[in-house]
Amino acid sequence: MIIRIILFLIFTYFGIKTYLLVSRYIRRRFSQDTFGRPEQPETVNEMVRDPVCGVYIPVQQTLTIVSNGVRVYFCSEECRRRFVDGGSDYKK
Ligand SMILES: [Zn+2]
Repeated sequence: MIIRIILFLIFTYFGIKTYLLVSRYIRRRFSQDTFGRPEQPETVNEMVRDPVCGVYIPVQQTLTIVSNGVRVYFCSEECRRRFVDGGSDYKK
C-alpha cells in the first residue's frame, strides 16, 4: 500500500516537472518567434541613406536613432556617433 502512495507521488512529481518543462519550452519558442520578427515589416529590404557618409545600406544592416521624431539610419557606429556629435550639420 505504501509503495502505491510513493509511486503515485513520484508520478505526480514527474508529471509536474514535465508540464513545467513543456510550458517553459513553448513559452521560449513563442517569445523567440515574437522577437525574431522585424519591428517594422514594411521597411524590410528597403535601402536607406546614411546622412553622414552618404552611402545606401539595407535597413537590416543599419544602426538607427530617432532624431526629432524621425528615424535616421547609419552604416556604422562611427557614423552614428558623428551624427550625434555633429548635431544640426546633418539634419538637412
Ligand atoms: Zn556611414
